[in-house]
Amino acid sequence: MIIPAAGLGTRMASAPGAKAKKPAATKQFTELGGTPILIHTLRKFMASPEVSEIYIALRANEIDGFHARLEKEAEDILQKKIHLVEGGDHRQHSVSNAMRSVSAGEDDIVLVHDAVRPFVTAEIIHNVIQAARKYGAAIAALPAVDTVKQVERTSDGALITATLPRERVVLAQTPQGFRYDVLRKAFDEATTDGFVGTDEASLVERSGHAVAVVMGSPKNIKITAPADMELAEFYLKK
Ligand code: C5P
Repeated sequence: MIIPAAGLGTRMASAPGAKAKKPAATKQFTELGGTPILIHTLRKFMASPEVSEIYIALRANEIDGFHARLEKEAEDILQKKIHLVEGGDHRQHSVSNAMRSVSAGEDDIVLVHDAVRPFVTAEIIHNVIQAARKYGAAIAALPAVDTVKQVERTSDGALITATLPRERVVLAQTPQGFRYDVLRKAFDEATTDGFVGTDEASLVERSGHAVAVVMGSPKNIKITAPADMELAEFYLKK
């Protein structure tokens, strides 16, 4: 499996004007109950017997430090084969770099999961793997509860251009799982066409392969903004 963890986390940066004593940790290294979010996330996959190897895409200057940290504080994670690879400028480039290092059989399932979603469950991981085996491609997602609007951005906000029928909308989460040959082909085509997507499924969709959806969880949040940390602390305590 692949964990993109090379984001700069600019949305996590402290408010403008705040005294910057030291650079804020990127969001995947922000600590939750004293442990980096990335390590919480890794432990969820350590617990899955279906996951054999983990490729983690990191910023180049964080690779050595993270390896040392695993050896010091999280030896349990080194029980699986862990590969630390260099990430890229966009999430897709980080996953693509990891894909280049992956050696897998055509029918092997490659899972991709955001470093910053530490509350994924064993059940979601298992269900995505099962559906990926069956359909070749599958993601966890949530039905939309809010009404979803399509907008055009304007200089001072946005104007609605359409209302999307809610029952036809789901909100994509991770893990996203794919047969290796399906994901490889989708990445090759995206690279050739210069297409950059915000998740792996979007690449697979455009390559013409159907992607199945399994139920995610409202707790499987992506920790993106400082406010998400309050919710994350709450989930961690429960
Ligand atoms: O920034 P975004 O919300 O897309 O982040 C989702 C995941 O992708 C995070 O785990 C982040 O670390 C990762 N990412 C990455 N390389 C980038 C940007 C984001 O690995 N260049």
